[in-house]
Amino acid sequence: MNKIKVGILGATGMVGQNYIRLLANHPWFEINYVAASPSSSGKKYKDAVSGRWHMQTQIPDDIQNLVVGDANQVSQAIGLCSLVFSAVEMEKSSVAALEIEYASNGFAVVSNNSAHRHTDDVPMIIPEVNPRHLEIIPEQRKRRGWDKGLIVVKSNCSVQSYMTPLYALLQAGYKVRRMILTTLQAVSGAGYPGPSAIDLIDNIVPFINGEEEKSEIEPLKILGRIENGAILADTSIKVSAHCNRVPVTHGHTACVSLEFGETKPELDEILSIWREFRAVPQNHDLPFAPKRPVIYREEVDRPQPQKDRDDDKAMAVTVGRLRECNVFDIRFTGLHHNTVRGAAGGAILTAELLKAQGYLNSQVDN
Ligand code: NAP
Repeated sequence: MNKIKVGILGATGMVGQNYIRLLANHPWFEINYVAASPSSSGKKYKDAVSGRWHMQTQIPDDIQNLVVGDANQVSQAIGLCSLVFSAVEMEKSSVAALEIEYASNGFAVVSNNSAHRHTDDVPMIIPEVNPRHLEIIPEQRKRRGWDKGLIVVKSNCSVQSYMTPLYALLQAGYKVRRMILTTLQAVSGAGYPGPSAIDLIDNIVPFINGEEEKSEIEPLKILGRIENGAILADTSIKVSAHCNRVPVTHGHTACVSLEFGETKPELDEILSIWREFRAVPQNHDLPFAPKRPVIYREEVDRPQPQKDRDDDKAMAVTVGRLRECNVFDIRFTGLHHNTVRGAAGGAILTAELLKAQGYLNSQVDN
C-alpha cells in the first residue's frame, strides 16, 4: 500500500517531536515534510532541535536531514504531503487563518491547536466518543468551497482523562446532570521550556491560563449534535473544573464527581460498562487504537502517572478509585498520557479514522 505523505507543522516543539517519534514506521502514514517557525526554517531537522530533542528515542534516520520549512508558507508544503498535523504555538487568530489556508490549498488539517475548536463546522474529535461528527466534513467543504481540504481538531488534552469514561456511561443510557473535576496536569502540557523549575519543584500551581474554561466548554461540543451544517453543543451537563499544574513530567490526572439523572447505575454496572466499552477505532482495528479504551485498575492507589500513563501504547485512559460520592452520585480518578493520547497520538488516531472513513486523499496533488 502506498503510504499517505504527511507534514508536521510545529515539528520542532514538544508535540511535534512526539509526532516524529510516533509516526516512525506507521503502516499508513509517512512524514515527508517538517515545518516550524522562521527561526528553524532552512535548517536540517537534527540541527533545528539540537539541544532540545526531548524524546527517549533517537531522531529517526529518514528525518534527521529533512530541511525544515516555514510553517507560515503554505506553498512550501505543496506537492510534498496531502495531510498536515498542526502543532504550532502561535497567536490564535494567526493559527486559525493559517489552518484555513492549508485546507483551502487541498490539505487535510488535523490540529492540536485550540484556534478552530469552536468553529461551528469544524469537528472536535475524540475517536471513541464522537466519530460521527466527521459527517460534517462534506458540509464544511461545501460551505467553504474546498474539494479535498478539511479541518478537524483535537480537544484540549485535559479533557481526555474523563471524556471516554463519561461517554461510556452516557452511551449505556445514564444521563449525567453535573460533573465536578479537579485536574492535576503534567509539565509537558505546557510545551518546552514550560514553567521554571523554581516555580514547580515542591509546588502546585492552581492556575493554568484558559484551561478551566476549555475543560468546561469543550465536552459540550464533543457531546453535541450536527444540525443545519453546524455542531450544536449539548448543554444538558453542567461542568465545574479546577485545573492545577503539578510536578509530573507526563500524564494528566482528573479527580471526577458525577451526578446522574433520574436513573443511577450501580458501581458494579459502571465497572462492567467501562470494561466492555469498545468504539469505532477498536471495531476498525485502527493502528493507534488501544485494545481497551478504558482500563480499570482495582488497586486502591491507582491510577498513577508513572505506572499507568503508558498503558496500551499510551493511548488508553486508565481509571480507578470508583466509589460513591457523598455529595453527587459517584467519583473516580482518570489518567491519560497528555503528549501521546492527549496530543500527537490522539491526532494520529483521528487521522486514521479519517482514512478509514474515506476522507483522506492519498495522492499529493494539491
Ligand atoms: P512548543 O513545544 O512550544 O512548540 C511550538 C512549535 O511551534 C515549535 O515547532 C515552534 O517552532 C513552532 N512555532 C512557534 N512560533 C511559530 C511561528 N511564528 N510560526 C511557525 N511556527 C512557530 O509547543 P507544544 O507543547 O508542542 O504545543 C503545540 C500546540 O499543541 C499548541 O497549540 C498547544 O496548545 C497544543 N497542545 C499541546 C499539548 C501538550 O501536551 N504539550 C497537548 C495538546 C495540545 P520553533 O521551534 O522554530 O520555535
